[in-house]
Amino acid sequence: MMKKVRALGLSSGGLDSILAALVLRRQGIEVSWVAFETPFFDAENARKAALAHGIPFRVVDITGVYLPMLKAPAAGYGKAMNPCKDCHALMFHEAGRIMEAEGFDFLFSGEVSGQRPMSQTRSALRYVEKRAGYEGRILRPLSARNLPPTQVEEEGRVDRSQLLDFQGRGRKPQLALARELGVRDFPAPAGGCLLTDVTFGKRLKDLMTHDPEAKPTDYHLLKNGRHFRLSPEVKLVVGRTQADNAALAVHFDARLHTRIQTLNFPGPLAFLCGPAGQQERRLAAGLVAGYTRAADSVSVTLVLDGCGGEEKVDVLPVRSPEIREKMV
Ligand code: SF4
Repeated sequence: MMKKVRALGLSSGGLDSILAALVLRRQGIEVSWVAFETPFFDAENARKAALAHGIPFRVVDITGVYLPMLKAPAAGYGKAMNPCKDCHALMFHEAGRIMEAEGFDFLFSGEVSGQRPMSQTRSALRYVEKRAGYEGRILRPLSARNLPPTQVEEEGRVDRSQLLDFQGRGRKPQLALARELGVRDFPAPAGGCLLTDVTFGKRLKDLMTHDPEAKPTDYHLLKNGRHFRLSPEVKLVVGRTQADNAALAVHFDARLHTRIQTLNFPGPLAFLCGPAGQQERRLAAGLVAGYTRAADSVSVTLVLDGCGGEEKVDVLPVRSPEIREKMV
């Protein structure tokens, strides 16, 4: 009996990922997905798509290998701090390790050649394969007929004639195929990766420049609140909303942060990151007080705890316009 062909796909949970998997499954290939997580993107859409289409699925957190790559991507960044080519290469490299360990026959993704200017040109797709270490073993079912055949196509284990020749940015062929395959529910294309956001990129660069040894939790903190660079070593993060406060609270680490909370007025949750001295602790407390409803002349009581020690302070709110210049 012929051994069943097994494919492991990268999934973003978007329409292209779904179609790529279904196109392979339609010719009898057993498909499975892996989705990766870092502080900059998660696997939520992939999880939903896997459930909706009955595709076996796993999530792998690759933060540990992702951050070193992000600091110096060999192929550089896109318009923001998005290292798309090296990001794809790293994901395929990690997926390839799973493929080899678990006996999958090849890797696949929903990439369409020419769809994204930086990461999906033909040369970018080649770069990714090479750098990932899996030349000839990465199949893009939606564009395969425009690309050189992969090993499994050459061996006849995947029927190339049943693969597609999508090309470029247009979405019409995907939408028609979605109708044909009965795919109705899928997230809007793009979005979901903070690294493509220019404003987020500025914060990220600030962190990487001032704290090359930053921990994953510091990268998570970039996603919420207002950020003030108080000195090269010290940064203040102030929650903007209740949701921000809740998200920040999850990442409090008493070994790395000084937490600041108001006592006599409702106010935001804030963290000082880095070795803050007395002057920075006072300034931070004043700044946090500035986000309460206390009048400028009314003293606000705050409690500081965490890596800089615990203390209660009374300060006047700081709301000077110059402080905005410290915002990153
Ligand atoms: S958009 Fe984000 S997740 Fe996608 S390839 Fe680029 S850096 Fe990676």
